[in-house]
Amino acid sequence: MIMANAQIEGTQELLEEAEQSILFTTVRPGIVMDYGKGMYLWDTDGKKYLDFIGGWAVTCLGHCPEVMIKALSEQGSRLINASPSFWNKPMLRFAKLLTDHSCFDRVFFASSGAEANEGAIKLARKYGSVHLEGAYEIITTVNGFHGRTLATMAATGKEKWKSLFEPKAGGFKHVPFNDIHAIQSVISSKTCAIMLEPIQGEGGVIVSDEGYIKALRQMCDETGIMLIFDEVQTGVGRTGKLFAYEHYGIEPDVMTLAKGIGGGFPLSALLIKEKFNIFEAGDQGGTYSSQPLGMAVGLAVVNEVIQKELPKKAEKQGKYIQARLCDIAPKYDLQNIRGKGLLIAFDLPADKGGEIVSECLNHGLILNAPRPNIIRLMPPLIVEEKDIEAMIQILSEVLRKVLN
Ligand SMILES: *Cc1c(COP(=O)(O)O)cnc(C)c1O
Repeated sequence: MIMANAQIEGTQELLEEAEQSILFTTVRPGIVMDYGKGMYLWDTDGKKYLDFIGGWAVTCLGHCPEVMIKALSEQGSRLINASPSFWNKPMLRFAKLLTDHSCFDRVFFASSGAEANEGAIKLARKYGSVHLEGAYEIITTVNGFHGRTLATMAATGKEKWKSLFEPKAGGFKHVPFNDIHAIQSVISSKTCAIMLEPIQGEGGVIVSDEGYIKALRQMCDETGIMLIFDEVQTGVGRTGKLFAYEHYGIEPDVMTLAKGIGGGFPLSALLIKEKFNIFEAGDQGGTYSSQPLGMAVGLAVVNEVIQKELPKKAEKQGKYIQARLCDIAPKYDLQNIRGKGLLIAFDLPADKGGEIVSECLNHGLILNAPRPNIIRLMPPLIVEEKDIEAMIQILSEVLRKVLN
């Protein structure tokens, strides 16, 4: 007997339902996640997974932390949304927290990284039209990643995306990362901004050189071009500082944040120096911009990251992970162990990333392969040595099995 609203219970039924009702956009493993706590996730069969992706560098405080539950329930019972046309208290407190702890003066809030980057792109074009005689081109980097909207896909430097969804939004020039001469050769009177990740995340955790970033800053100072840091992945403690630009001894003009800023709640921010406070009414907005619930959650998350000194902890545990990876590297021929804080990757001796990721999942460990020969780790900032040891043990077992 079929009941109209029969509850789906078993994992098999859930997977069949997923096959029928979810628009295909990606291949997912045959498991359904059910609940989480701290470093762990559990699926609907009760199997436990040690999470070294953390919702894609998102759940910086781990799964379902008390501070988020408290903010969600307190603000949720007070005011969820009053419309973007009114001020609200958590919005003002959150903006103050971010500007007090960064080099920036003003914040625009949105819900996703791509949306924050769209705001940065629009601001750069506005700046070009107002102050740089109509300059509109934005220089971005090969293998950089900026999101999946049409403009941010055009900004992204992914080879595979080049022919997708034509015609592309125009006005982007891609140059090799970490190469100051490449930028010098394309910069022109049409250029209004340079936009890049200080560490390319999706590109495989490629850390930029200090000399390169300093030279970029100097070039932008001399030409008046806007320097935009996409810190969607590197921001909020991930790399061992609250923001990755702090590693380089410079200040960008504009920065975007998402991922870790909401601890898992959809939230993003565009931060700017006062000089770039040039939007006019109606230039930028969004139904969910600065909505009170998200603001209260983001405020609680970033406050916790600062109060608990999690950037410092990320630096320490990141070093520990890299040291333990170095210990096992000779045995499995792992190369190029790299990263900053808790954004770490290494190269495999063969294109077996996909196989290693799925075998680790079978063994209860969640990792990511941004490219077929690269494994990336981005655990919650609360990761402890015992979690790292558990990760190394499963990873070693899987590497032994898959690589031999
Ligand atoms: C994830 C990511 C984005 C896109 O963020 P969404 O929230 O998925 O839109 C943009 N830039 C970088 C560097 C990212 O890592």
